[in-house]
Amino acid sequence: MLRKSLVASDAQLNQGSYYEASVQRGAPDPVLRGAETADVVVVGAGFSGLSAAIELAQRGMRVVVLEADVVCGGASGRNGGQTIVGFAGGQDVFESQLGAKDAHRAWQMSLEAIELVDKRIAQFNIDCERVNGYLYVADSPRKARALEAEIRRAQSQYGLQVDLVEGSAVQQHIASPRYCAAAYERLSGHLHPLKFGLGLAAAARALGVRIYTGSAVTQLDRGAKVCAHTAQGQVRADYAVLAGNYKLPEYGAAVAPEITPRIMPVGTYVVATPPLGEAMCRQLIPSNAAACDNNFALDYFRFSQDHRLLFGGRVSYSTSTPANLAQRMQARIAKVFPELQGVPLDYVWGGFVDISMNRAPDFGRLGSNVYYLQGFSGHGVALTGLAGQLVAESISGQAERFDVFARLRHQNFPGGALLRTPTLVLGMLYHRLRDLL
Ligand SMILES: Cc1cc2nc3c(=O)[nH]c(=O)nc-3n(C[C@H](O)[C@H](O)[C@H](O)COP(=O)(O)OP(=O)(O)OC[C@H]3O[C@@H](n4cnc5c(N)ncnc54)[C@H](O)[C@@H]3O)c2cc1C
Repeated sequence: MLRKSLVASDAQLNQGSYYEASVQRGAPDPVLRGAETADVVVVGAGFSGLSAAIELAQRGMRVVVLEADVVCGGASGRNGGQTIVGFAGGQDVFESQLGAKDAHRAWQMSLEAIELVDKRIAQFNIDCERVNGYLYVADSPRKARALEAEIRRAQSQYGLQVDLVEGSAVQQHIASPRYCAAAYERLSGHLHPLKFGLGLAAAARALGVRIYTGSAVTQLDRGAKVCAHTAQGQVRADYAVLAGNYKLPEYGAAVAPEITPRIMPVGTYVVATPPLGEAMCRQLIPSNAAACDNNFALDYFRFSQDHRLLFGGRVSYSTSTPANLAQRMQARIAKVFPELQGVPLDYVWGGFVDISMNRAPDFGRLGSNVYYLQGFSGHGVALTGLAGQLVAESISGQAERFDVFARLRHQNFPGGALLRTPTLVLGMLYHRLRDLL
């Protein structure tokens, strides 16, 4: 029941997307009909699956991508576009589980993930409105202390170059009365995610990748060879890459039941105002950086190329869309930028992020030839690209970097499929309450 209601609301949630309204999707990819063979079958045509497909094809492999819906119809085509270094859960999980050396390797790979975004934009000529610059902001003295501690540690242990400012100096970076501290960082930034994703799909096709849409994988036979079954066809391959995010169990409950209890879908929403004009955007954030606060239920925002405010917030801890979503998002905007009080909203949409218990990415193998990528925990715009690259390296015989991540231990969410959501709701409400207090 729970899963069914999620599918319905999820499809509706993409209908009002600014991103969908600002791209021209080409002719749809075909539906898989009949039997095909490949070296690798990839499940899911979001950033993770497309990245894996590109990297595998560049290594000379024959790749088929099977997508239940359309290319980047999931999280990859709807997100805040914030292209960020590091990991949602920070470095703690890596340090405590793997030790300092591998924590550093993981950090370096997160920097590489940003470079990979830029490399692909250049290599495949993807016009996706990429901007560099990122502001981490804090809205209370307690949060300012937490931000400072985190930034000092990132500077001293990981060499992150970032400017920390407090008090009135914050206004030079963001004209908001809400924030008392900010950290400006230049590597991270933002882009138009759907333009980026459609560009990746075009690049994959040009490399010979066969993409089928409307082709949900409902069953995966494992063994020395794998066979992915859809309603009207099958793909037999040496390897499978599961990049289906939180939707994998909805389309094929038996495809990988071992890994799905480790992921919880959490709703997050984005709105777009009408174009505000360049002068207003530069007045509010002179550098045109993307911004994000450090609250547990965080606000994240940026300006689009046509000068709209794209404002995201995690306002649902369950799978149902919150009541009065537009009004609640308007209220959040007004708290950050009081001059935008009552600003109309042209678009309201949302989606689900695939949270893992420890917020660290959850990559690994089932047997020797089924790979999975999940648990980006709302931090996947850049990291998904790296994830696809690591899978391709591993399938090509160089597993060392993939295995840094595969060694991380992950837990199931308590409560099984039915009780997972209420448990998470309670946990998140606790953190939200702490932020409010
Ligand atoms: C509203 C929102 C805002 C976000 N903001 C940010 C942000 O600002 N910065 C950031 O870094 N991250 C953000 N994220 C997270 C980021 O978008 C994701 O981490 C990333 O896009 C995940 O990519 P993916 O390819 O793993 O998953 P997806 O893009 O969800 O792709 C998975 C695909 O697999 C398909 N699929 C699933 N099961 C099957 C099956 N059985 N057969 C065939 N196909 C299947 C699905 O239909 C889907 O198209 C946000 C997410 C959301 C929803």
